[in-house]
Amino acid sequence: MSGKYKTPLLDELEKGPWPSFVTEIKKAAQSSSMPQMADDELGQLEKSYSTRLGYWKHGGIVGVLGYGGGVIGRYSSLPDEFPGIAHFHTVRLNQPSGFFYTAEALRMVCDIWDKYGSGLTNLHGSTGDLVLLGTTTENLEPLFAEYSSRGWDLGGSGSAMRTPSCCVGMARCEWANIDAMDICNTMTQHFQDELHRPAFPYKFKIKVSGCACDCVAAIARADLSIIGTWKDNIQIDQAEVKKYADAGMDIQAEIVDMCPTSCMSYDNGEIKINDAQCARCMHCISKMTKALKPGKEKGATILVGSKAPIVVGSLLSWVIVPFIECKPPYDELKDLTEKIIEWWDDNAKPRERIGELIEAKGMRPFLEAIGVPPQPQQVKEPRKDPFFFWAESDFKK
Ligand code: SF4
Repeated sequence: MSGKYKTPLLDELEKGPWPSFVTEIKKAAQSSSMPQMADDELGQLEKSYSTRLGYWKHGGIVGVLGYGGGVIGRYSSLPDEFPGIAHFHTVRLNQPSGFFYTAEALRMVCDIWDKYGSGLTNLHGSTGDLVLLGTTTENLEPLFAEYSSRGWDLGGSGSAMRTPSCCVGMARCEWANIDAMDICNTMTQHFQDELHRPAFPYKFKIKVSGCACDCVAAIARADLSIIGTWKDNIQIDQAEVKKYADAGMDIQAEIVDMCPTSCMSYDNGEIKINDAQCARCMHCISKMTKALKPGKEKGATILVGSKAPIVVGSLLSWVIVPFIECKPPYDELKDLTEKIIEWWDDNAKPRERIGELIEAKGMRPFLEAIGVPPQPQQVKEPRKDPFFFWAESDFKK
């Protein structure tokens, strides 16, 4: 039961040991300055669950002065029945790099949001933004004025540069080969116009991971993936290798046999790596954290082309630059990104992502346009479908 609605189907989702979004919406229906919004949201959702129909009308153009993106228009198709959500726009706030907030900053975000919106949030949306769910058209300008006067900005939406995002990088991770947070912040500042004024054929996402463990899943979700790597040899501490073996690790089975390029060996208690063949996948390093470390000559691999299966099928990124130095002010990276975007913008059909355009036109004109020579690492076609499901039998030898 919520304020004025009976919600037996939603109530089921409050059972069990997990946090429940239904409980949180019910709380917002008690505490925000616009309680009818959250309450009517519950009423409409309950109705959707029983009729198996959605009642949100698609978008429409809403926004704030001077910006083309950042707000996603949302309206109920049943405004007479649920007047509290006749308008229920989504606002994207540009998140800080690595999602680091102070408690004070979070309180500020929530206090402003309680004043102008439903009180419902989503930290974070899959693009990375801090998402504020549900406000009215009249409240957008005062809401934006208050956030921007306190140093916040909107993120990207529509056919624009989307808010770049990154892993926690050097702030917390010993494997970060690049300063993912600084690169993310630099690219966000550099492409402000492209972020706020949609003028592209479709969305363009940049994601930055400090290493190939790829904590932001850049390789599966970003048109431009910047992934930290190294050029020289993996650093090996053989004394620590011995400690792993003494502690019972089966180094041959768990490490050497699982190296995707078979470039490792384990003889007489020592690990040897043929670094020329190493793909920098991070498997061995992430398993033997004390014995193995990335090399010292650090930089990034640049990949393009991944996307979720919205218009046509999903794609994984593929390598275009195997190694690039990534030092402030990142001019080489900015220049390369601009060339990539320019070729895509000049050639793509509406709603065509860069990966699809390269598939349609081929790598040759793309590489020629961006001035990158062909190299063996530019694998044309990695596995296409990132949503591959393994059967148990696949693991049996
Ligand atoms: Fe093999 Fe990956 Fe380790 Fe390189 S990083 S040696 S490819 S497991």
